[in-house]
Amino acid sequence: MSTLWERALKSIEQRMSSRNFELWIQPLRYVSLTGDTLTLMAPNPYLKEWFEDNYLQSLRTEVSELAARPISVQVLVEEHRVDPAEEISGIPSPVELVQPIAAPERAMGDYNRTQLNDRYRFDNFVVGPSNQFAHAAAELITEKPGVKYNPLFIYGGTGLGKTHLLQAIGHTLLDRHPTWRVTYVTTERFMNEFISSVRQKKMEEFRARYRSQCDVLLVDDIQFFARKTNTQEEFFHTFNALHELKRQIVITSDTLPNQIPELKDRLKSRFQWGLIVDILAPEFDTRVAILRKKAEFDGIPLTDDVAQFLATNIRSNVRELEGALIRLAAFSSLQGRSITVEFAERILSNLLQRNRGQISIDRIQREVASYFNLRVKDLKSHRRPRAISYPRQIAMHLCRKLTTASLAEIGRHFGGKDHTTVLSADRKIRRLIEDEDETRAAVEALERLLGA
Ligand code: ADP
Ligand code: MG
Repeated sequence: MSTLWERALKSIEQRMSSRNFELWIQPLRYVSLTGDTLTLMAPNPYLKEWFEDNYLQSLRTEVSELAARPISVQVLVEEHRVDPAEEISGIPSPVELVQPIAAPERAMGDYNRTQLNDRYRFDNFVVGPSNQFAHAAAELITEKPGVKYNPLFIYGGTGLGKTHLLQAIGHTLLDRHPTWRVTYVTTERFMNEFISSVRQKKMEEFRARYRSQCDVLLVDDIQFFARKTNTQEEFFHTFNALHELKRQIVITSDTLPNQIPELKDRLKSRFQWGLIVDILAPEFDTRVAILRKKAEFDGIPLTDDVAQFLATNIRSNVRELEGALIRLAAFSSLQGRSITVEFAERILSNLLQRNRGQISIDRIQREVASYFNLRVKDLKSHRRPRAISYPRQIAMHLCRKLTTASLAEIGRHFGGKDHTTVLSADRKIRRLIEDEDETRAAVEALERLLGA
């Protein structure tokens, strides 16, 4: 590396915020210093453009001063080959593929699209009271990405359409801006890539991928960041870099930011900068409409009475609803029978029983414990820190609400607590549900998990 460039780097670094330095200067590679021309290499045309608009002038002054003669600076753009090995590494699901650094001349739109499931589009999303707010917000940001509501944070229980909406945003943005780099990534994938980039000393590539080379970032299931301190730290910087550039960020989670265990405060607060929207379990009419849409899409003959039968019996999870329909279609063509209510009752008997299944105190305790990342033992203990007593009170409330057990019986299941303890826990949580979004959301999420 030229000592001139090295010295220039040091001096620039002192005068820039470290974030900007990392983003815009560090990715540049030194190529040559021939005569009076310093040649650098940018990893992508975007960075070159940004650099030239914002930093070229002062860099030229800097190096000229250091060299004590006028030096011109030229920036080339690196040619990238897409390494096929890179493309197929990791989990081979098309939905999970994160783009490797793509060749600039490639039609980005088509490339990005491979990360997205083709079915998850706005056209296929049925809007009802349970999801209309989330849906409206999602559509809105496709019109003005990065301007309003950044980040958009979508939360809701499993199988309620978060991933569907997230990817619909991706599809629509690619339809409108085919050259944009829209990156869809699951939190798990982000974490794995981060860890392997650290190990393989490829952080520059990693950062380029998620910062300078990313126009829109869609991150799925951020609740998996719980306790992953280093990844959180990295994501924090990714977030800041993109946010500063007014790049749209959309995040999904199965809980509110402040309920993700051990999520750093500064990430929590970032997530609250934009708009937080929830998706609830769909109501009956929406469930019927979803079934119809799905049947139409897949060419499955579905009568009104079967649609209503399914919508009545499968309530809490759209994925299960769809699964039931697919199962019916498969069995009907295997057995050469048409899909009637009786047929559905027979084929789906296991699933329907489970949905009707009794909710026991044990099950409530297990769900609550895992929701709050505790052990059932903690709920049964007499320990009083809020991190334990609050989930315990929620569990007691749910036992009151969802089972027929007496106060004394519930108390016994919680390590022999007095019936008045159960009663006051129940009252307290009922009050909090009225007053506090956080508690209401937690209880609702748990009820959904329990299929109540
Ligand atoms: P989540 O990410 O919240 O767990 P998904 O987005 O994976 O849920 O949705 C589960 C399934 O249900 C997907 O096949 C999705 O297409 C479907 N689905 C969920 N909500 C809707 C809806 N409102 N309209 C149509 N399909 C839906
Ligand atoms: Mg999902």
